[in-house]
Amino acid sequence: MTQSSPVELPYADGDFFAFETLLSNKERDRLHEVREWLDANVRPIAVECWNRAEFPHGLIPQLAELDVMSPVRRQGHSNLLAGLLHAEFTRADASIATFMGVHDGLFTGSLELLASREQQQEWLPDVYALRKIGAFGLTEPLGGSDVAGGTRTTARRDGSSWVLNGAKRWIGNATFCDWVVIYARDLDDNQVKAFLVDTSLAGYSATKIENKISLRTVQNADITLENVVVPEEFKLAHANSFRDTNKVLKATRLSVAWQAVGLMMAAFDVARRYAVERYQFGRPIASFQLVQDHLVTMLGNTVSSMGLMVRLAQLAEEGQARDEQSALAKAFTTARMRESVALGRAVLGGNGIVTDFGMAKVFADAEAIFSYEGTHEINTLVTGRAITGISAIV
Ligand SMILES: Cc1cc2nc3c(=O)[nH]c(=O)nc-3n(C[C@H](O)[C@H](O)[C@H](O)COP(=O)(O)OP(=O)(O)OC[C@H]3O[C@@H](n4cnc5c(N)ncnc54)[C@H](O)[C@@H]3O)c2cc1C
Repeated sequence: MTQSSPVELPYADGDFFAFETLLSNKERDRLHEVREWLDANVRPIAVECWNRAEFPHGLIPQLAELDVMSPVRRQGHSNLLAGLLHAEFTRADASIATFMGVHDGLFTGSLELLASREQQQEWLPDVYALRKIGAFGLTEPLGGSDVAGGTRTTARRDGSSWVLNGAKRWIGNATFCDWVVIYARDLDDNQVKAFLVDTSLAGYSATKIENKISLRTVQNADITLENVVVPEEFKLAHANSFRDTNKVLKATRLSVAWQAVGLMMAAFDVARRYAVERYQFGRPIASFQLVQDHLVTMLGNTVSSMGLMVRLAQLAEEGQARDEQSALAKAFTTARMRESVALGRAVLGGNGIVTDFGMAKVFADAEAIFSYEGTHEINTLVTGRAITGISAIV
């Protein structure tokens, strides 16, 4: 049993070294404002939505009002604030953070980096205002880690249009989005290009992937494209090879590493409180040295990952962040995250496996974050290639 009234905890959270004080006062106020909004609007519904595997559509107008889209490119905020905001979203709920990671990071990022100025003027206002929801279609049933060289979805030029055929898998938001950026191989030059596909087009269909054990609130889908006709003006003007696709992935890989930080903060929040409130042998389990060791390991993982991400945000600010640094960050932080959520789950004992106690969802959500946007293994090999000059990927 736990004590009946909440225990007053000493001030501490995952940001134990106060990295957020590196923000300007204005940006820090903004971080706190978003944190309060998440506490009021996302936390109360997060577990129920996850249990039911349902997306809270009512949140979309509220997110639009919060005005968090494209914090760096559109709003001119620092990379550090953008990272800390994404961590904060994940701390409140990894599924809503992933919804934003797909709509804002992958989808909007594709338009911001790969569309022409005219295309951006046409599309982005609706996207920023969340009047149009987007998805990012790269992964395929037969092409995951090797999708760069192995994209099987095809694009065939037909007069002033393109005809798309193929299948995509795991596409977040795809059961309800208005638009999806589809990456497809041009049959003429064999290069991967990108197309803004309206999901109401004939030949497009999306089927929800059921029975997930992770990020259950995110609506992932299998997409099929059967002779979907896309006018030329919906081909993203600057998406002409996989090298261009990588410009999007480089940025979003960073935000997934920030997700790992946020999930570790969430695990630490829950485990620390539980350890102080849960009594065994007549005393709080936090009084046992092994439990304190678990909490301190979790905190050390969080702080070291955050320190790495703060430095990477500084490098991004200077335009100096390299692909392999993002890859190392994603690999390192997600490995630390996996250890932390397992320790957190252990601190809760049996209660750690039911979602009512706040840890089971965090524990399960770590699994998707560990694997998406480049698996842990692939990001390790990208880093290994950079430091040895030898590729062990193929
Ligand atoms: C919840 C969720 C949401 C997602 N959202 C999207 C989305 O919105 N849009 C999108 O396009 N994709 C999305 N993805 C797909 C995601 O990016 C892929 O799952 C990921 O890239 C891995 O591909 P895969 O699952 O096919 O695994 P595989 O590539 O089949 O890998 C299986 C295992 O083999 C290992 N492996 C593969 N190749 C090598 C190698 N050369 N050396 C060593 N090990 C190797 C991998 O590391 C992994 O452990 C999502 C995935 C999930 C789970």
